[in-house]
Amino acid sequence: METNMLLETHLKQLHLPGFLHNYRKFAEDAARTNLSYDRYLLALAEHEVLQRDKNRQMRCIKAARFPVLKDLATFDFSAVPDLNKARVLDLARGEYVVKREPILMVGNPGVGKTHVATGLAVAACRQGCRVRFYNAAGLVNDMLQAQDEHRLPRFMSAALKYQLIVLDELGFIPFTPTGAQLIFQFCAALYEQVALIVTTNLRFADWTQVFGDERLTAALLDRLTHRAHILEFVGESYRFRQRLQRDALHAGGD
Ligand code: ADP
Ligand code: MG
Repeated sequence: METNMLLETHLKQLHLPGFLHNYRKFAEDAARTNLSYDRYLLALAEHEVLQRDKNRQMRCIKAARFPVLKDLATFDFSAVPDLNKARVLDLARGEYVVKREPILMVGNPGVGKTHVATGLAVAACRQGCRVRFYNAAGLVNDMLQAQDEHRLPRFMSAALKYQLIVLDELGFIPFTPTGAQLIFQFCAALYEQVALIVTTNLRFADWTQVFGDERLTAALLDRLTHRAHILEFVGESYRFRQRLQRDALHAGGD
């Protein structure tokens, strides 16, 4: 008893919660199966390492502030036949993050752009990358506020510490001239420094309209598309299709 109490105090002090939680149970198992002392210690250490890794991933996913958590595993690629599944899964391995390359996802609303963007970003979190998810309109608001409070430089240097930033729904809402300027400033600063995933419903021809300024748009597109992986999502809204299917089922049941 005395020994256990002492051991548990030490394990706490050493910050080994996995050891603390498992040492008795693993010891019983080891005794029953005649496991050597080395193997017993190895099992405890392995468990601790795995748990720490899991915790780190969870922290990373939380810090990324995804609006809705989505996984590539739950994405039905057959609904978007033009989207190359192998290519997306290859991207999920994260080489683009290391090379700081942008990914541009273009397509109509409801076709799964945010889902795939989140899935890729979650995969990056699992690989230990620092990730942040922004809605484009939300980012502009954050930047406007930072500008008002004279901390835009600090905001930008914080953004540069990420390894991957998702910019969701770029062009969904037309920008004010200041908003367009800020988004441009943001993307220009990240260029070749931080990997960027952009989702947009805009066709390239429509970008000028949303950003207002032709030269600025050209410069932005130049940075976003240079070395970019471009994924085109062609298809009907997934939600809409599901609703149609449900309605059809109900109609059939009547
Ligand atoms: P977009 O960003 O292109 O507007 P979303 O990614 O927000 O579309 O998709 C809308 C909803 O439909 C989400 O809940 C998403 O998870 C789901 N969804 C869209 N496409 C698929 C798909 N191919 N497989 C599974 N779920 C999908
Ligand atoms: Mg979306």
